[in-house]
Amino acid sequence: AKENGRNGFFFYERSLTDSLYSRMTLEQDLRHALEQRQFTMVYQPQFRLGEARPRRVEALMRWHHPRRGNISPLEFIAIAETTGMIIEIGEWAMETACRQFLTWRQQNVRLDKIAINVSAIQINSGFADRVLLLLKELDFDPRSLELEITETAMMSGIIEVNRQINQLRAHGVEFSIDDFGTGYSSLSKIKSMPVSLLKIDQSFVRDINDDINDYEIARAVILMAKSLGLTVVAEGVENQAQESTLQRLGCDWVQGYLYGMPLTGEAFVETYRQS
Ligand code: C2E
Ligand code: CA
Ligand code: CA
Ligand code: CA
Repeated sequence: AKENGRNGFFFYERSLTDSLYSRMTLEQDLRHALEQRQFTMVYQPQFRLGEARPRRVEALMRWHHPRRGNISPLEFIAIAETTGMIIEIGEWAMETACRQFLTWRQQNVRLDKIAINVSAIQINSGFADRVLLLLKELDFDPRSLELEITETAMMSGIIEVNRQINQLRAHGVEFSIDDFGTGYSSLSKIKSMPVSLLKIDQSFVRDINDDINDYEIARAVILMAKSLGLTVVAEGVENQAQESTLQRLGCDWVQGYLYGMPLTGEAFVETYRQS
């Protein structure tokens, strides 16, 4: 028992220092990741329910760490946000995704829009101008761009965020609320959000057929959003049963492993090129 206790202690101590160490070194490593080309973008298709060809795509970032392998964006985006590095990394992501979209056009992959995730911290006073400048430089139609912002960021109440969003919307950029339902804002708040699209968080989709609360939330969100003329996208759809329920509730758009995994730009061409 004594031996076990000692081993238990050492195990605990080591895992504790490991986690402190990795958070600090990850932060350091993140500073060099951009210049060392360790980031890539992958792309997941979005479908109008029932259609075989995707109309939209969401760009998602990947970090391949030379020693730790792939690190989840849930982990490194949070670090990038607290250190402010998200501004630079986010700009890289937007440029890379927009360029990919233009390349696809020439390869017979025709999509209406590309959706890019934007963190609240990126939306400072120069945000809209920087995005518009990038689009101009790339000769990219603003109407082909959709920006996803989480519900919490959207509800931050910061007037500047609304100002930046409205400036871009005036040029045709579309905005969606990501992870809707997780931010505790009341449904009636949807009305005042400067968006045209709403993404139901995957946590509600997962158990939509097994958890009556999740079902009721999804139902209420879809009903309310549609009555306000918003498009609803369900994310994280993994099986047919979830799809049927979403369809019955009137959800128009779907995204998830049931339809397509996130793919590299090249793999996306192979899968979705039109003959
Ligand atoms: P998100 O924006 O809600 O993206 C959806 C996540 O669900 C992605 O995880 C995607 O790979 C995953 N997913 C897609 N279909 C399914 C499914 O059927 N089942 C399940 N269980 N998961 C599915 P990923 O790529 O790991 O990204 C995690 C989060 O990291 C994103 O959540 C987003 O908040 C953030 N993120 C990713 N890329 C970027 C980026 O370029 N900028 C910013 N600011 N955040 C990003
Ligand atoms: Ca998203
Ligand atoms: Ca989401
Ligand atoms: Ca999410």
